[in-house]
Amino acid sequence: MPNILFIADVVGSPGRDVVRALLPDLRKRLDLHLVICNGENSAGGFGLTQDSARSLFAAGVDVLTGGNHLWDRKEALDYLGGEMRLVRPANLPPGTPGQGWAVYRALDGTPIGVVNLLGRVFMKEAECPFRTANAALAALKDKCQAVLVDFHAETTAEKVAMGWHLDGRASAVIGTHTHVQTADERILPNGTACLSDAGMTGGFESVIGMDREPALRRFLTLMPERFSPATGDLRLNAVLLRVDPATGHTTHIERLQIPYREAGNGVEARRLTGEEPAAALRNEARLRVSDFLAGGIQPVLALVSVGEDPASQIYLRKKGEACAETGIEARRITLTAGTDTRSVIERVVALGADPRVHGVLVQLPLAPPAEAQAVLGAIPPDKDVDGFHPMNAGRLAAGLPGLVAATPRGILELLRFYQIPLAGRHAVVLGRSNIVGRPMANLLSMKGVDMTVTVGHSASGPALRDLARGADLLVAAMGRPEAVTADWIKPGATVVDVGMHRVPSPASKSGTRLTGDIAASSVRTVAGALTPVPGGVGPMTVAALMANVVRAVELQTGPERVAMR
Ligand code: NAP
Repeated sequence: MPNILFIADVVGSPGRDVVRALLPDLRKRLDLHLVICNGENSAGGFGLTQDSARSLFAAGVDVLTGGNHLWDRKEALDYLGGEMRLVRPANLPPGTPGQGWAVYRALDGTPIGVVNLLGRVFMKEAECPFRTANAALAALKDKCQAVLVDFHAETTAEKVAMGWHLDGRASAVIGTHTHVQTADERILPNGTACLSDAGMTGGFESVIGMDREPALRRFLTLMPERFSPATGDLRLNAVLLRVDPATGHTTHIERLQIPYREAGNGVEARRLTGEEPAAALRNEARLRVSDFLAGGIQPVLALVSVGEDPASQIYLRKKGEACAETGIEARRITLTAGTDTRSVIERVVALGADPRVHGVLVQLPLAPPAEAQAVLGAIPPDKDVDGFHPMNAGRLAAGLPGLVAATPRGILELLRFYQIPLAGRHAVVLGRSNIVGRPMANLLSMKGVDMTVTVGHSASGPALRDLARGADLLVAAMGRPEAVTADWIKPGATVVDVGMHRVPSPASKSGTRLTGDIAASSVRTVAGALTPVPGGVGPMTVAALMANVVRAVELQTGPERVAMR
């Protein structure tokens, strides 16, 4: 099934820059078979020239469509009449140079018809677009099943009407011209995908792609103004369509709005590395531990594991090293794979009752048949340094003091270290696990942090990307390698990558590399700040664990003792 990308009206050189920067990656990532682009404003914001067309073709566009501004550049008339990769409005008088429809072969071999039409409501004179559409489809009937119509029209009603007019006869009717993307994409009952307007590709700090100051002045004074394409907050607007080549019906329609920030010149996302804030947190813990030692208390952390999971061995080693640096005594309790839940619980209960042990950590996952939830529930809440016990989770949800899960706590410490503004801002947490997502959401929304929080999960569906794009702070903890791409990110947002995955990497010596839930290479061109993987959240988790052991000692020896039992 061919994947067709339709790129919305490209405005001037900023719009062309966006296409050039983003399209090569999109072609690969979305497995595109044909790219159609409305280019009628691609030359300086008005008209299409040979140069602007060439740059769009070089960027990976296969077919250009037009509109009422197509002929604004008189010097380009000869070129436009002879360019076979250009489809101009079909409902113009006989004798107009160029072609109103044509058939192109997608990369998978599917022939795809492209038709361009002008609306008549509040537009300059043109023949009836509805009758011209009939004529175009009749002419294309024996040549292709799939037909995309770019309907360049001013009013929503005319565009929606065209959708119904062509339902079952065209694969898609995509509106252009207003430069504001509408959210009404749908597939009509007989298989025609419709969207009232695909939007605009170019500068969004603008009035429909043009510098906003002169545009506003013209409305205020009614005097003529010189317009030029806007820069700043550049975005690509597009529609992705999947079409059944046998029937020509569309099976999938998806709007895209992809921000683009030029790389270099200091505009790449700030790297929020974990090393420095983690060292600061460990140092604080070390100082508290020396106080405890002076008072005759040796803090002890019991690290319990069941089986020999290789990743767990690495995490346990790192935790042991951090304990040594901080002055905490780490005791490893390694149970063989196959130990049943009851036996593990017995060990955990014994450690819980031992007054010399201040923290009990059960390294997950447990080798079967041991059941994690039952084991975690056996840790006394005031020794639960991972913060997974329902009592600690509940205290956090209720805004009461307790032990907070180490990863979310570490993330909050990291955000504070880098002085990221949080209060009153919108956070989106991707993932709702008891280990990361849920406690993270509770922590960010609690009094004193004061964020407005949205939690996404596997049932959130395609709407999740739009929610994520509204986030000032995006925390990705889905466990899906590089699932979050640049089009999920609000320009300038802070992005925290919790994911940790080892993926194949033929270019590297070991044949693998570590990556997160964030596609860092593209996201860093849009985000304002980003945690790296590795070296971001990982060190913070271990440091926050040390801080939690300190807190556990305080809870067991200080005035809060009763509240936690
Ligand atoms: P988890 O228990 O598997 O939870 C994943 C969460 O993501 C679930 O809530 C799941 O939704 C949601 N999710 C999965 N696919 C999704 C999708 N396509 N769209 C939206 N939501 C989706 O994982 P976890 O323990 O929270 O860990 C998450 C990641 O963080 C893993 O990569 C893990 O290795 C990493 N991690 C790193 C550290 C560190 O210190 N660096 C610490 C802990 C975890 P449902 O609830 O609907 O299933």
